[in-house]
Amino acid sequence: MKGFYAKINKSNYYFSVLAVIAVMFMGLFVSNPKLDELTFGYIIHLVLVMALSVSLLLYPKFKTSGFKIVIITLFSLYFYAIFFLYPETWSTFIFICLIPAISIFYFDRTLFYFSLVLNVFLIGISFSYLVLVDQGLLYSYIKQDIIGNFINFIGSQVILTLIFHLSYSRIKQQQVYYEKIQQAERLKTSGQLAAAVAHEIRNPITVVKGFLDLYKNDPKIKLEMGSHFQLMSDELDTAEHVISQFLAIAKPNLDQSTEVVNVRETLKSVSDLLKSYGVLNDNVIELEVDDKCYIQVNKIEFKQLMINLIKNAIEASKNGSAISVTGKRQKDDVEMQIIDNGCGMSEQEVKALGTPFYSLKSKGTGLGLMICFNMVAQYNGTLKFDSVEGEGTTVTIRFPATKSSR
Ligand code: ADP
Ligand code: MG
Repeated sequence: MKGFYAKINKSNYYFSVLAVIAVMFMGLFVSNPKLDELTFGYIIHLVLVMALSVSLLLYPKFKTSGFKIVIITLFSLYFYAIFFLYPETWSTFIFICLIPAISIFYFDRTLFYFSLVLNVFLIGISFSYLVLVDQGLLYSYIKQDIIGNFINFIGSQVILTLIFHLSYSRIKQQQVYYEKIQQAERLKTSGQLAAAVAHEIRNPITVVKGFLDLYKNDPKIKLEMGSHFQLMSDELDTAEHVISQFLAIAKPNLDQSTEVVNVRETLKSVSDLLKSYGVLNDNVIELEVDDKCYIQVNKIEFKQLMINLIKNAIEASKNGSAISVTGKRQKDDVEMQIIDNGCGMSEQEVKALGTPFYSLKSKGTGLGLMICFNMVAQYNGTLKFDSVEGEGTTVTIRFPATKSSR
């Protein structure tokens, strides 16, 4: 399906580009007063039309920012060239006003401002030329009211900037919405998978593990064999752990009751818990949570969320380094951050977070974050990752704040 739409988009692009090229060539050959003399100006016009046509046709193969800048610059030069080559055609001034509109098609803020600044710069030079050199000889229609024309030009640039900003923010919003839908789709699929697979595997594992424990403690079994049994039993524990995590998504906690949770107290107890379980490899958790941070959630789930995220931060960091956990009120939200100076992630890796089984660890399950995203969404919160490869990661969790019940 994707390929199908890509094909339609491609043919739409070539169709539009061919129409633009046809119009540019018409300008060259249809009732062009300079055609008979083949002046230097006409050759510049011809060269610019050729360069633009080739660039537009090649663009789908080289969709780089550099190439976009070349196309926008060529368009600017082209419109200014026809403005100066055909002074009798006053409508070319309209095209000059519209130049930044071309960059709107690329939906790129930098390109748009590049085009806008270039246009204002070129109009500055052009108007100076008209006032100082031409003095109303060829461009009397502009010179007669130079201030009015300049104000109109600036007005058109302001309108284009508004159009760009409105459509840009709308498209960005849609992009975020689309990514959210994709994330929700992933969660749904994994939930269905969980229900089917986890249940089937859990029962046989329990049986095998029961027998292993029985043999392990049997005095008739040799000591060496006993340690093998221990190993098998541990591995089955890991498998069970994965399955319970999976089941947590498929059959969300039956006890869905929420309560007013004191974030400071809860994070303190999470940090103590991690310490006592020896999860910290000489790492320190620096807690800095404001008082008056209360949220309405299921306490056990909230603890699970924070444990998952802090564990990830520890696993990404070197032994002995510090993990900062903060919490503060931000208007109507409580914002918590977990900051580590660990290995960090590339942009691509951050995008993959939350995908079932996505893990870069040899013993990772790749389910932790999927559960986290699930839980946060359930309580209308948000979970955001900012990461720089090799420098560290900041995880920002937000929940709507609530008042203390006490
Ligand atoms: P697991 O911890 O079992 O691998 P998670 O879903 O918890 O699964 O995490 C998925 C992956 O995301 C991890 O394997 C790791 O590569 C990456 N990740 C998560 N948190 C961080 C972090 N703070 N710093 C760097 N990488 C991280
Ligand atoms: Mg994890």
